[in-house]
Amino acid sequence: MSFNQNGKPTLTPTQDVLRAAFAAGFQSIDDGYTFYAGFDSHLESNGYAKRDDIPCTCPDHGGHGHMPECRWVKA
Ligand SMILES: [Zn+2]
Repeated sequence: MSFNQNGKPTLTPTQDVLRAAFAAGFQSIDDGYTFYAGFDSHLESNGYAKRDDIPCTCPDHGGHGHMPECRWVKA
């Protein structure tokens, strides 16, 4: 876990991991679960963890609502 000079985490999920996590989330809905059940477990299985103690990691800082991957960083 590392932060840049602004206190932002530097190891947010890659685009490939995110794309697969979204797919897992939608598959989870198809299976009768919530989007986040699949989305979160995919990120966790790739070594990421959701941190509630770090600043928002959205590109616009949550100005248009938080992204599902907000605060997920490499554990
Ligand atoms: Zn956010």
